[in-house]
Amino acid sequence: MTKFEYSPALESTSVVDIKPSYDLFINNEFVASKNGSKFQTINPATEQVLAEITAATAEDVDIAVKAARKAFKSWSKLAGSERAKYIYRIARIIQDRAREIAVLETLNNGKPIRESRDVDIPLVAAHFFHYAGWADKLQYAGVGPNPTPHGVVGQIIPWNFPMLMLAWKIAPALAAGNTVVLKPAETTSLTALLFAEICQQADLPAGVVNIVTGAGETGRSIVNHSDINKLAFTGSTEVGRYIAKAAAGTNKKLTLELGGKAANIVFDDAPLDQTIEGIVNGIFFNQGHVCCAGSRLLVQESIHDELMALLYQRLDLLRVGDPLDKNTDVGAINSASQLAKIHELAASGDAQGAHRWSASCQLPTNGFWFPPTVFTNVSQSHRIAQEEIFGPVLSVLTFRTPDEAIAKANNTPYGLSAGIWSEKGSRILQVAAELKAGVVWANTFNKFDPTSPFGGYKESGYGREGGRQGLEAYLAASTDE
Ligand code: NAP
Ligand code: MG
Repeated sequence: MTKFEYSPALESTSVVDIKPSYDLFINNEFVASKNGSKFQTINPATEQVLAEITAATAEDVDIAVKAARKAFKSWSKLAGSERAKYIYRIARIIQDRAREIAVLETLNNGKPIRESRDVDIPLVAAHFFHYAGWADKLQYAGVGPNPTPHGVVGQIIPWNFPMLMLAWKIAPALAAGNTVVLKPAETTSLTALLFAEICQQADLPAGVVNIVTGAGETGRSIVNHSDINKLAFTGSTEVGRYIAKAAAGTNKKLTLELGGKAANIVFDDAPLDQTIEGIVNGIFFNQGHVCCAGSRLLVQESIHDELMALLYQRLDLLRVGDPLDKNTDVGAINSASQLAKIHELAASGDAQGAHRWSASCQLPTNGFWFPPTVFTNVSQSHRIAQEEIFGPVLSVLTFRTPDEAIAKANNTPYGLSAGIWSEKGSRILQVAAELKAGVVWANTFNKFDPTSPFGGYKESGYGREGGRQGLEAYLAASTDE
């Protein structure tokens, strides 16, 4: 197949206004830390410094929690229809400023502009619209006729979908009447700080949303703060375990959205061209930095060779490079440490006897890059079949019968998502029912919608985000009656 060369079509960065240095956002104002230091945030595609961010200390977190506690008194008493107005306003401002947010997200995260522009930011607005609609209908959320908010919510999010994870956390919390102290990931704080400006623009009452930037230490201060009523965390299973231990024995409610090692199962009757696109979207979307990525491809043995030949051809056409180029399919790895983790796990694949294939693309010299890579000859016991790589690396295994596919798909400590490719509806339904995964996609992959609950089994965590189910985590049944 010919790879057509396109002229670069760079998205302009003039639409974003990045300040040299950022303070914390507490009580609707940007305030300097009491004694915290600053650290640099970079563009992972170029390693250029974008800005300085504040590392919030325990004292700063305490000030933010106090602001949220004070705001909770009036925010929780406000009629749901009034809270909805603010959340709708935020949603509309996000739509108005979508291009600016998308460009900033791409600059700070490394994801292709096509994805931040067409997937992440439209979904962010959709989540705020969806939960704005819920704010005056909480009696239908499934927790009784007079549900009450928990109070101050501490929220900690990762770097792979910075603005979308913020929306998943903040929109339902506010709709339910809680107030929030949120910490973005240290490598991707800029869109959360832009969201702080959007809260100001929406005239959100002071203290309802507070953004404290920093690294793991700041997250720990949130987790261990005694005046937080609920914690919501998205990130690694390792940190999730720490948080579950820290919250045990306290009154804090907790939801955890952790890692995954999803099986994408291809039966011999699958429509191959469509399946190839689904495999590519499943593991190379967002450089594979996706907790529900289809990172284990399970192929029925009889079509393995044909499918793999088509897949390699397709992967050689992926454009890897400048995330701001609208032609780019695969962008930069988010950080040097994530790149090192991907290299280490890929090397374990070589060492354990799997066969590595990488797309023949030219990688830029600056920044953090990894070519789209596929391992075949993978056994279930290989680390690349068990551990989350969180990068553009696909592990391929084969099966002969549906039962074998189900057994292999479920042979993981995780259980976040799965995919099934087959023309036969009855097979899809039967296999889906047997998979221990929170979300099962059929003849598609990585589709998200604010009305649909998302979450995991086993070490992928507990609690659901999205839809009515996503509200439950932010509400308690009233004890009044
Ligand atoms: P991570 O290291 O667990 O970090 C997640 C967040 O927790 C970051 O804000 C991090 O801060 C903070 N943190 C680190 N140590 C902490 C501690 N001891 N106490 C409190 N907070 C702490 O995860 P990551 O490497 O950034 O993200 C990748 C992981 O997230 C993957 O495993 C992926 O599967 C998972 N993930 C899951 C979902 C889901 O919905 N299930 C979605 C996205 C990602 P710093 O970044 O500043 O260190
Ligand atoms: Mg981390």
